[in-house]
Amino acid sequence: MKIRRRDFLKGVAASGLLLAAEQTPAQAKRARKDLPPNAVGILYDSTLCIGCKVCEHGCKETNNMPMEHANPKERMWDNPQDLSAKTLNIVKRYGVAGEKDSVEGFAFIKRHCMHCIDPACVSACPVSALVKNPENGVVTYNKKACIGCRYCQVACPYNIPKFQWDSPFPEITKCQLCSHLLAKGGISACCAVCPTGASLFGPVEKLRLEAKRRLAMEPGEYYDFPVANIESTEVQQHRVGGYVKHVYGERELGGSQVLYLAGVPFANLGLPDLPEDSYVALADGIQYAIYKGMVYPLVVLGGLIYIIRNREEKKE
Ligand code: SF4
Ligand code: SF4
Ligand code: SF4
Repeated sequence: MKIRRRDFLKGVAASGLLLAAEQTPAQAKRARKDLPPNAVGILYDSTLCIGCKVCEHGCKETNNMPMEHANPKERMWDNPQDLSAKTLNIVKRYGVAGEKDSVEGFAFIKRHCMHCIDPACVSACPVSALVKNPENGVVTYNKKACIGCRYCQVACPYNIPKFQWDSPFPEITKCQLCSHLLAKGGISACCAVCPTGASLFGPVEKLRLEAKRRLAMEPGEYYDFPVANIESTEVQQHRVGGYVKHVYGERELGGSQVLYLAGVPFANLGLPDLPEDSYVALADGIQYAIYKGMVYPLVVLGGLIYIIRNREEKKE
């Protein structure tokens, strides 16, 4: 049977697309990323937080962030209502009345960058203004590289990066885990100033173990809770609260270096129910499947071009 060149080429292209389409999302996703070797982070235990907001102040002070104004002309200062271009760390209260840390009661929640293990903001940034440190995993921002496209804002599943709309030279702002303090051997300011140990700094592996230790304890049992830095010897003895049996951030979207424990459902505290695979891994996998599907037709096409050229040269 004689096959026309045009039909053959059509078939080659179609087989490439089929190869790409054959990949299910589960096959298409790439492997999970591992924790960097010296990953550091924060364990926030909502059951220990008293809502004093000292961590908000510590964060502003060490990062030179301005206070929020109710009205700049009146020179009246106000409490931040949410994360903003001036506020990298916010503590909020869930619930209105009743017993602390019960579904109907109240609980505090502290929000800032999660320092994702597979960060969508880093993947979305076209100029690498956001990077994940390969050693300690901290996600930092380089204002000199930033072109202000705000793709990172759209990509972040936790709605963390903010943009300085009121600045003539706007930057993206977000928690960088106080990397300037880490570089000098210090720890995150919000953990250093927290009076109860609710915000605890340390190597992520140790924080994960600490979180699981707390979840395994009976409510009401006494425990020496580490304060500020899990590697220091400072402790405070408290009764263990009733925990939701889950470490938020250990697996969500491929995991993060900021972990949460709470006495109320995490969704009530604004921490969304998320899948274990990172969106970045899924997107990379689909991209890979498409390119992989194109390799076969490109090789065949290359071969065809070679044969046709050879034939034409012989004719000449
Ligand atoms: S929480 Fe958002 S800003 Fe922070 S590392 Fe993850 S994707 Fe980036
Ligand atoms: S780690 Fe530093 S920048 Fe991040 S919330 Fe805490 S004090 Fe603020
Ligand atoms: S300093 Fe500690 S106890 Fe006070 S609001 Fe922040 S996390 Fe909660």
